Parts: sequence; structure tokens; C-alpha cells
Amino acid sequence: MTLKTRNAIVTGSTSGIGLAIARGLAAEGANVVINGFGDADAIEKERSGIEKDFGVKAIYSSADGTKPEEVRGMVKTAEADLGSVDILVNNAGIQHVDPIENFPIELWDKIIALNLSAAFHAIAAAIPGMKSRKWGRIISTASAHSKVASPFKSAYVSAKHGIDGLTKTAALELATFGVTVNCISPGYVWTPLVEKQIPDTMKARNLTREQVINDVLLTAQPTKEFVTVDQVAALALFLCSDAASQITGANISIDGGWTAE
Ligand code: NAD
Repeated sequence: MTLKTRNAIVTGSTSGIGLAIARGLAAEGANVVINGFGDADAIEKERSGIEKDFGVKAIYSSADGTKPEEVRGMVKTAEADLGSVDILVNNAGIQHVDPIENFPIELWDKIIALNLSAAFHAIAAAIPGMKSRKWGRIISTASAHSKVASPFKSAYVSAKHGIDGLTKTAALELATFGVTVNCISPGYVWTPLVEKQIPDTMKARNLTREQVINDVLLTAQPTKEFVTVDQVAALALFLCSDAASQITGANISIDGGWTAE
């Protein structure tokens, strides 16, 4: 596969799954817009590293996914700078763990804004260009939590179930335009997002770190192994290929069997 003529945006790509997807797309020849927060020097190292390693153009957007106008602006800027947005990967996401009755309202709003509404705004902004060129790939990183729930993750589970619905709706609206819309639903992938929720889960469930890893996280996964970021990136790349042109509206699990139970 080559993506040499394609331009991609990957939200939340300064870390974890998004970074692996951005590097995977660049390795296939796509120009990429990387996005997310973090140390400025580290982000610049990542951006210039992508250009150097793969000979593509890499642009950094500091758009805050919780702000609709910044998300839509990122798509418009990418179209102006690169000529098009052919591949959109909605990946930025955050987590917060608390019982519903204690769940801070501002964190509910923030998680819904970033994990769900940002995808709506980015898709809305990217659709006209994709439709006019009759080619597009929209992929969102959902989660096993788009199919099943866990206690104390009300906002995250609600947003991820929402991504599943948004994916299906967009797939139907774009079905005759050569644009596929899918989501990928990983189980636990070892990234900073998972690492960061360990202390909160320890508190919410009164467990040790080892107990959270073995008895909460990996308990969910029949294989008893974490998914790797490269495995998620490989699936995203496949969805960008011509072989995947008839896969649309799908929510594809990559969760070590979690949602088979
Ligand atoms: P991560 O914490 O490593 O990366 C999250 C990225 O989002 C970072 O680049 C961060 O800077 C960015 N981000 C955070 N707030 C932002 C904002 N307001 N605007 C723009 N970018 C912002 O997390 P990850 O584990 O790589 O998660 C990526 C996606 O995968 C998320 O949507 C997450 O829900 C999903 N996911 C992760 C797992 C897992 O086990 N790690 C499992 C299922 C789904």
C-alpha cells in the first residue's frame, strides 16, 4: 500500500496510540498533521523526526479538541497547507474515574467534548473536501467501552458509545462518495492514558497498583496481555487501504477477546 498522495490529520498524536498511527501513516508516505498537548521541544522532535524518518511533510497543530472552532480550524488550516485532508483519525481522548454521584460536572463536559464532540466537528469540517474528491478515510479510536461498560467511567463509556453511533451515521451519509467511516475499539493498550488512571482506580476500588493491573485491567482481557500501539496502528493502516474500501460503518474490536465475553 502507498499513501503517497494522501494527507492525514491524527488528533491526539503527541503520545500513545495517535503517535503510532501518525508514524504508521507517514511510513506509507502520507503527509501528516500531528496534534495534542505536551512539552514543546518533545513535540518538535517528534514532528521533525517524522519528516526525517519518512520524507513526508509533518505539521503540528495545537488545536484544543474541547474547542469546536479550534477543531474545525485545524481541518481548514490543514486543507490550506497540504491541499486536502484525505484521512482523518479522531483519536484524542481523556479518561476520568469516579462514581457517578461524585463525578465532577466539568470533567463530564470535558470528556464528552473531547472524546465525542471533537470527532463530530472534525468530521463535519472534513466532509465537503472528501465528498468533492470522492475519496476519504475517517477512523475514530473508540474503545471496548464503546460496546460494554465498566463502573466509574460514565463519561468515557457514554462518549465512546456515542462514537459508535456517529461512525454509523457518517458511514451511511458518505457511503456513495468513496468515503469510509469506521471506528477501532481497543481493549487495554499500554499507554500514558492507562498508566494515569491507575492511581484513581486504586482509590475508587481500594486496590494496590498490582491489583489494578492484574485484577481490573488484564482481567477484562482473556488473552491476559495488553494490546500494543503498533497493533492498533496496523489496523488503522489497513482501513486506509483499497482492500478496506467496502468496510464502512464498522466498529472493529482489537481487545484480546474482552467483548467476546
Ligand atoms: P494518551 O494519553 O497516550 O494520548 C492522548 C492524546 O490526546 C495525547 O496526544 C494528548 O496530548 C491528546 N490530548 C489530550 N487532551 C487533548 C485536547 N484537549 N485536545 C487535543 N489533544 C488532546 O492516550 P492513548 O491511550 O494513546 O489514547 C488515545 C485514544 O485511544 C483515546 O481516544 C482513548 O480513549 C483510546 N483508547 C485507549 C485505550 C488504552 O488502553 N490506552 C483503550 C481504548 C481506547
